[in-house]
Amino acid sequence: MQAEKNYPRTFSFEFFPPKTAEGAEKLRGTCKQLAQLGPKFFSVTYGAGGSTRQHTLEAVLEIRAGGQHAAPHISCIGSTAENIRAVLKEYCAHGIHHTVALRGDLPSGTIDSGEFRYANELVAFIRKETGDHFHIEVACYPEVHPQAKSARDDLLNFKRKIDAGANSAITQYFFSADSYFNFVDECAAKGIDVPIVPGIMPISNFSQLMRFSDMCGADIPRWIRLKMQGYGDDRSSIRAFGLELVTSLCDRLLSAGAPGLHFYTLNMAGLTSIIWQRLGLEPHRDESVPTEK
Ligand code: FAD
Repeated sequence: MQAEKNYPRTFSFEFFPPKTAEGAEKLRGTCKQLAQLGPKFFSVTYGAGGSTRQHTLEAVLEIRAGGQHAAPHISCIGSTAENIRAVLKEYCAHGIHHTVALRGDLPSGTIDSGEFRYANELVAFIRKETGDHFHIEVACYPEVHPQAKSARDDLLNFKRKIDAGANSAITQYFFSADSYFNFVDECAAKGIDVPIVPGIMPISNFSQLMRFSDMCGADIPRWIRLKMQGYGDDRSSIRAFGLELVTSLCDRLLSAGAPGLHFYTLNMAGLTSIIWQRLGLEPHRDESVPTEK
């Protein structure tokens, strides 16, 4: 169990890179507001095939210019080794020491998966090319990745990423604390010895949440679906219910020893800030994850 490991707690906030000047301006405001909570780092997603490469880097540099730690994601599907090498060089040149390494998902209809098939190959490549330069986070799935052959295979595939040199993991979001507790126990039984930080999805828009969850395999328990459906277009009731639900999930996870929380903010500060305040969290910083030097 993660609680027995005494890993330092890590609180982090994820953004996606804005594509427009208006989106960039909005993200500046969001970042400023969330920075007051003192997260350990912000992370910025990276589109499959390098589609957001420049925007991801720009967002990371801007967050750092505001005095915060920031980690760019990197995804390998649809990329050549040469592309990935160039991205790593760029990250190194900017003094970036922290990344989230993923396979990514190709847009449907695309067939060329490139030179990397799975994220464990990307992690091995990063280590081969850059040694210990990066603190590498990877993704994992308490409710099983939708393309996995079985739960057991998915767990072993997660282990491959750790064996390839990843330092820590962030989960896909989930709404059942038990799926996380069960997963971390299974990881421990397989000798996976890294912090596994729960990914948290605040709930604002039910139809968007259903769409995301269908794609990524996150389960929305029946009783939650029915409650949300019952609210119909009453967005303020959905918001209030979602806040209560996600806050109590976070509370349960932290009380049981989860080593922090990673919020999928969708570039909005409101819900994340309220959950943070309700949990009574303090501004948080420690230097155990090397990000910039
Ligand atoms: P993998 O670990 O490669 O797993 C993908 C599937 O292949 C799984 O079913 C696994 O069981 C199977 N598998 C893995 N290794 C092997 C192997 N060696 N042999 C056979 N089967 C194997 N997507 C983006 O495009 N950009 C982002 O920035 C991004 N950020 C994310 C951040 C987090 C915290 C999370 C949880 C997800 C993120 N995603 C992002 C989504 C992610 O790319 C998808 O979930 C993707 O489908 C899987 O990525 P992965 O790195 O977990 O892949």
